[in-house]
Amino acid sequence: MDTVTYKEPAPIVDRENPFESMMERFDVAAELLELERGVYEYLKTPVKQVVVSIPIQMDNGEIEVFEGYRVIHNDALGPSKGGIRYAPDITIDEIKALAAWMTWKCSIANIPFGGAKGGVKCDPTKLTQVELEKITRRFTANMLDVFGPDKDIPAPDMNTNEQVMAWIMDTYSMHTRRTENAVVTGKPLIIGGSLGRREATGRGVMVSTFAAMAKKGLNPKQSTCAVQGFGNVGSVSAKLLSEQGLKVVAVSDVSGGYFNKKGINVNAAIEWIQKHRTLEGSGIGDPISNEDLLELEVDVLVPAAKEDQITGKNAGKIKAKIIVEGANGPTTAKADPILDKNGILVVPDILANSGGVTVSYFEWVQDRQGFFWTLDRVNRRLERMMTDAFNNVFQTAERYKVSMRLGAYILAIDKVAKTLKVRGIYA
Ligand code: GLU
Repeated sequence: MDTVTYKEPAPIVDRENPFESMMERFDVAAELLELERGVYEYLKTPVKQVVVSIPIQMDNGEIEVFEGYRVIHNDALGPSKGGIRYAPDITIDEIKALAAWMTWKCSIANIPFGGAKGGVKCDPTKLTQVELEKITRRFTANMLDVFGPDKDIPAPDMNTNEQVMAWIMDTYSMHTRRTENAVVTGKPLIIGGSLGRREATGRGVMVSTFAAMAKKGLNPKQSTCAVQGFGNVGSVSAKLLSEQGLKVVAVSDVSGGYFNKKGINVNAAIEWIQKHRTLEGSGIGDPISNEDLLELEVDVLVPAAKEDQITGKNAGKIKAKIIVEGANGPTTAKADPILDKNGILVVPDILANSGGVTVSYFEWVQDRQGFFWTLDRVNRRLERMMTDAFNNVFQTAERYKVSMRLGAYILAIDKVAKTLKVRGIYA
């Protein structure tokens, strides 16, 4: 099992409210779909928002109180699904946006889940392993009535990993007096995790990059790529893309960006970061800033760090032909029309990074069956589902003559709205 390593978020270029960014796209899609007012109201409002306080006795004996959140945006398609993030700057608005994105993501991925997101406001870089475990267990205990394999299923997100998921599974199982491994996904293999889950988001990014390159007529063997962020999503995306013949000319993390015209040695970068926590001093390339990385002359740009990186301010300077959004919400609503006008093909987050939740679904299925699949089966099914999702979004975008981003929203909202209609409103 890997150790808990925490990466600080990449610097924020310009912050727009992520919930408003989500709603701006939602509004346009709702109008194109001619969504009726009642359904619009229903889908815009999260079905549940829970805030808990998490008192912890720190290693120095003092009591600190943290705040934990879980927002269930919608559960029309099934139990809600979505990650838990630990970060010092999270807000309920951000969690609300991320929860809604999970609803749309699960809808597009064609998996039987609704959308949720959670988090704890804390700075993991300043916490010991013991304190982290206490926070996770107390958070889970407080969420006992929210979580459940048929209700709401958490997973890893920014700054949480397999170990954190194991603590969630154990705490929940202790309270319910039985082993309940399907309550959380992204677990270590030995307690019911799935082969391929850790790499799934990056693998999905790779599949969607190739699908997008085919649409643009780009040959991967003659193309270049820059990846912003070197956490789980960024590092695996960079590795798989370079293995498939793309030249990864730049990568970045909290310590900044690194550019190498001849191509970054991605394996060396991964080895370095496992030992040193950041890419600083790795010698993999010449230093550039995180902002400059976004504006490089490359064929493919993969923002895989965090929200609000491509904004109204820098969108006009982006030179990539394709953007594949590994992170959630890396592009603000203000940037969308600028990228569109410049003919950049954007594979939106709710499609591009859906490989993670797709394999989370496989993990949940395997846990419930008590029967585990080979890596080959996981990867083949993931690739098939990602390709189908990509094609469905692309076709919707063509039908409505809109960007892939809006095509994705239209496809997602239409399915959830139809499900709502057929289920009816309980009163
Ligand atoms: N946190 C990941 C995401 O944003 C995975 C969620 C999950 O697997 O439930 O998609």
